[in-house]
Amino acid sequence: MVQIISGKEIGEEIRKDLTLEVESFKKETGITPGLAVVLVGENPASLVYVGQKEKACEQVGIISRKYALPENASQDEVLNLVDQLNNDSEIHGILVQLPLPVHLNESEILNRVSPQKDVDGFHPVNVGKLLLGEETFVPCTPQGIIELLERTGVEIKGKEAVVVGRSNIVGKPVAILLLQRHATVTICHTRTRDLAFHTKRAEILVVAAGKPHLIKGDMIKEGVVVIDVGVNRVNGKLVGDVDFESAKEVASAITPVPGGVGPMTVTMLLKNTLRAAKSLAQT
Ligand code: NAP
Repeated sequence: MVQIISGKEIGEEIRKDLTLEVESFKKETGITPGLAVVLVGENPASLVYVGQKEKACEQVGIISRKYALPENASQDEVLNLVDQLNNDSEIHGILVQLPLPVHLNESEILNRVSPQKDVDGFHPVNVGKLLLGEETFVPCTPQGIIELLERTGVEIKGKEAVVVGRSNIVGKPVAILLLQRHATVTICHTRTRDLAFHTKRAEILVVAAGKPHLIKGDMIKEGVVVIDVGVNRVNGKLVGDVDFESAKEVASAITPVPGGVGPMTVTMLLKNTLRAAKSLAQT
């Protein structure tokens, strides 16, 4: 019988612990962790994600402040806002909601966020530390994936792990985290010659391609643990990158979409914000 890995339930458990941790941090230091969310324009998906993040912050006692700039905001306006937030002692974490409008230089903006407040883990300093295996802010979705595996009791060490997708946000960092936990990692992308050859070898399969139902049941091996990161809207319904119906007949465990990786991403953002507040409180 396949195990459905519920990120919703696991995320809730972690949020309960975080609520207590935030509470005791406030008591000890008098500081309330604060997250700034920078939103440029009105991308409908971004508005939904930002709303979820604000609600989650409230749930665990973190203050969230939204800074909404118009679609036509200039590069300097966004950079000035980031500078201001870097210097704001009530703000411990800064999140720039992606994607930014195309006229903006995304990497310049992300690089401007203080590495100490970079709760998304996108700053090159933090990316470099992740690669070196040093303590750092780990990007939220990859961190959430590892928590899902560990809390489900999936052993990573020695396993054949296959990651489909090589983005800076999901594919590459999750591959690094799996490697650090001693999996043998293969990363697939659009130039991979025979995708099914690789996915069929996986004992842990992470799919982050943004292609609805790319992975079908006949492309995976009996007993694999499948983490479906994809979020795709098809005919008004959210679906993953994995064809859940056929894959669940073969896998030993699988995440649903929605209710799998998504809630974990938001939960890890809360965790990173508390961590930022704690480490800034010590400086
Ligand atoms: P992305 O930047 O578009 O990257 C997609 C990656 O998948 C690329 O590396 C691409 O290869 C690869 N790819 C695309 N089609 C492929 C195919 N047919 N065969 C093999 N590889 C293929 O996307 P992303 O930001 O990583 O996000 C991936 C998905 O996860 C999206 O659906 C996104 O909405 C979702 N997501 C969910 C969460 C969450 O919290 N649940 C968070 C982040 C992202 P190339 O590099 O060769 O182009």
